[in-house]
Amino acid sequence: MLDVLVIGGGPVGLFMAALLLQHGVSVRVLEQRTGAEPRSRAIGIHPPSLEALQSIGVAPDLVAEGIPIRRGIALGGGTRLAEMSFAGVSDRFPFVLALPQSRTEAVLEEHVRQLDPVALHRGVRVTRLQSDAGHVTAEAHSAGRTVRHTAALVVAADGVRSTVRSLLGTAVRAKDYPDSYLMGDFADSTGFGPDAALFLEAGGIVESFPLPGKQRRWVVRLAETGSGGDARWLVQRIGERTGIDVDAASNSMLSRFGVRSRLVRRMVAGRTVLIGDAAHEISPIGGQGMNLGWLDAAALAPVILASLRGADVGVELRNFELTRTAAAARAARQSEINMALGRPLPAGPWTVRNRAIAAAAAMPAVNGFVARRFTMQ
Ligand SMILES: Cc1cc2nc3c(=O)[nH]c(=O)nc-3n(C[C@H](O)[C@H](O)[C@H](O)COP(=O)(O)OP(=O)(O)OC[C@H]3O[C@@H](n4cnc5c(N)ncnc54)[C@H](O)[C@@H]3O)c2cc1C
Repeated sequence: MLDVLVIGGGPVGLFMAALLLQHGVSVRVLEQRTGAEPRSRAIGIHPPSLEALQSIGVAPDLVAEGIPIRRGIALGGGTRLAEMSFAGVSDRFPFVLALPQSRTEAVLEEHVRQLDPVALHRGVRVTRLQSDAGHVTAEAHSAGRTVRHTAALVVAADGVRSTVRSLLGTAVRAKDYPDSYLMGDFADSTGFGPDAALFLEAGGIVESFPLPGKQRRWVVRLAETGSGGDARWLVQRIGERTGIDVDAASNSMLSRFGVRSRLVRRMVAGRTVLIGDAAHEISPIGGQGMNLGWLDAAALAPVILASLRGADVGVELRNFELTRTAAAARAARQSEINMALGRPLPAGPWTVRNRAIAAAAAMPAVNGFVARRFTMQ
């Protein structure tokens, strides 16, 4: 029997496994995909996550590959409205690290393999869970066979369509939003260098972030749900709203996404704990989903270690659940504010709103507060 079975080998499941393996816990990670996830999603790694990732020793590798964003700039109508420095948000990591999620996952997977070459089982899809006194058994399908794994504890990090959440019948608070976005990665033709730039335009927000390899990610708020097009279409919208020329031929990724939130009411059910997107799907605008999941894992690891040593962890588990569901609710509210700021506005209210942002950002206390909120401090 294993100590811990992790279901889902995305960034959160892999980090959870590494945290436990480095303490000698026996862990298996069951991942339905046979290879790496090709879709590009998260790019922003915040300072508290870098601290957590440092606890398994991978932060230097990630920092070496990524671009540290030390400053955000807000622009509107061709004017620079505000600047926000991240210098004061952390002593060790005073920046948001930009790195494509696929690279982050590759670094985590490599680290898990170094800790235990057989911990990660790919091509294994969990379909059933059965709890008995003192253990849980997961039934899974792998290459046409049915396999079973039994563990003292199960951590489900199986993403937004969590099978485990459905099997447990966990209640969720669900919200759908009217916002949709088109994002794409292109060669960097701006002079922003490692800065992030937010264009608060009347037609809707345009966000621009540096990426390794002299690339930039552009995210454009679509004026209407259902609109959007190819890379050329995206480049035209960027040009219209920001005046910046982006080379459509240099496009390396294009993705359209809508927004919803799904927050579980309970993360713990007997010997099974839901973490990451399985517990809380929030809007990508604000870039906190993956980070939230890592911080779930960092908070859960000491509780699991104590439990495996035989301690009664009932109070600790309840505290874990209360603090992490509250953190998810906070992040969801923050992303709602970010989305509201990015919606299209008529010219009058847009001018008033941008003047108010410029005035507020000029106050050091407000600027520092927003920088800390933006970086999950
Ligand atoms: C467009 C976009 C941009 C984003 N940008 C950011 C950002 O900048 N910063 C940020 O913090 N977050 C961002 N996010 C969110 C981030 O991508 C997710 O929060 C993160 O991937 C969650 O990690 P996870 O490990 O919990 O889930 P996932 O990454 O979804 O991993 C879950 C894994 O479980 C596996 N699985 C599922 N069911 C089973 C099963 N039954 N059996 C076995 N395996 C199973 C899946 O194959 C998958 O590999 C963004 C999301 C999107 C869509």
